[in-house]
Amino acid sequence: MSKCKSCGAEIGFIKTSKGGNMPVDANEIATIVTADGITVRGRIAVINDAGEPIMGRVPHWSTCKSPDEFRRQ
Ligand SMILES: [Zn+2]
Repeated sequence: MSKCKSCGAEIGFIKTSKGGNMPVDANEIATIVTADGITVRGRIAVINDAGEPIMGRVPHWSTCKSPDEFRRQ
């Protein structure tokens, strides 16, 4: 596990399909709001075209407290 150089949050890395490393939040539990306006805390998943759930992680740039600094790295 690594730490973000901008905000110090714990982050992990996922290899992208292009071979790069995408920084993601270490915690895969996130708070989301449903279309009905209900706030839910849980693991992030999307359903693909085959109806299978795909677990995902939150890219760290979307939650970083210093996103401007983060992009410069
Ligand atoms: Zn950060």
